[in-house]
Amino acid sequence: MTFTDYFHSLDLNNLVKRSESISQAECERLLNKPKLQLSDFPVLLSPNMQSYLEPLAQRAQAITIQRFGKTMSLFAPMYLSNWCYNRCTYCGFSMELDYERVVLSDEEILKEAKALSSTGIQHVLLLTGEAPDKAGVDYIEHAVRLIKPYFSSIGIEIQPLKTVEYQRLIKAGVDTLTVYQETYHKESYMIYHLSGKKSRFDHRLETLDRGGEAGFHRLNLGALLGLYEWRYEALAIAHHIDYLKKRYWKSKFGISFPRIKSFVGQFDVQYPISDKELVQYICAFRLLFPDLGISLSTRESETLRNQLIHLGITSMSAGSHTEPGGYSGSDATCQFDISDERSVEDVCQYLHTQGFDPMLKDWDLQLVSD
Ligand code: SF4
Repeated sequence: MTFTDYFHSLDLNNLVKRSESISQAECERLLNKPKLQLSDFPVLLSPNMQSYLEPLAQRAQAITIQRFGKTMSLFAPMYLSNWCYNRCTYCGFSMELDYERVVLSDEEILKEAKALSSTGIQHVLLLTGEAPDKAGVDYIEHAVRLIKPYFSSIGIEIQPLKTVEYQRLIKAGVDTLTVYQETYHKESYMIYHLSGKKSRFDHRLETLDRGGEAGFHRLNLGALLGLYEWRYEALAIAHHIDYLKKRYWKSKFGISFPRIKSFVGQFDVQYPISDKELVQYICAFRLLFPDLGISLSTRESETLRNQLIHLGITSMSAGSHTEPGGYSGSDATCQFDISDERSVEDVCQYLHTQGFDPMLKDWDLQLVSD
């Protein structure tokens, strides 16, 4: 059974309704339950669980320290291109936005890699828009080989590829694949993705299966919060992780919780998620999946990030730029605005004051390269 078949067999609306009707007594019972299951997830997400955020947060923190110690892995995105042929209404790279597009040359990629690695960052996430003739597999594979000497871990967040294409990138040195479904609510998905290959909902749903078959060390997923009701998205993601873990058991899994940020275009957020709900969301995933990597981006403010690191976060971006060439002084158009503008050094210093050990390197490409 493909994930698409499995996904369409789920009654997520019913699970959301169940979550919304959970009593306080059920919440209390769950808090005393030692081991949680997927069927407990609606309780963790329920509106009544908001009254128990403190014990929920304490349990999330204890599990994280038990599994990961008091460490925080740091990474940064590196955008190679802002060309894109899709029209996604929430994104600064959307095709109809009129500005000069760029694709970094070899020289620019190297300059960018040197500038980023000089900040201490060893884990890099390479990103492009979806424009295969401008930044396709050949280009990305070449870019990976160019930057390999500067980083110990390379991830990608690019257009969906075939399994054999992913295998080529793994061979070149990529260890992590990130694919956000954006929203798991199909009707909403069709409203936000107006045209281009990304408008194929089911095709995107199956992308992580191809990544799992290819053998990535880590698979990251998530939804862009603000596109649809957060409980619906959380339930869909939990089922997606559960499905993937059973099939691609050699891979590790990670999730992140991006909330829509402002960008060069305009977008009205129809389904905002509050800070308190975000805390519940993060704690719920930590309790259900104790070994899950949980990542926090610079989309969130410094103040909120400083609070969230204690709840179950295992990695965070730092010193980020979301425009191609951003670390080496380019003024190209960015994908979205960032909120926490602290440098890598400042983030490390803050983590130390909170008793965390910031980790710039906890993985080495030599482990996967030939
Ligand atoms: S979200 Fe991705 S596919 Fe959509 S416009 Fe932005 S870069 Fe392109």
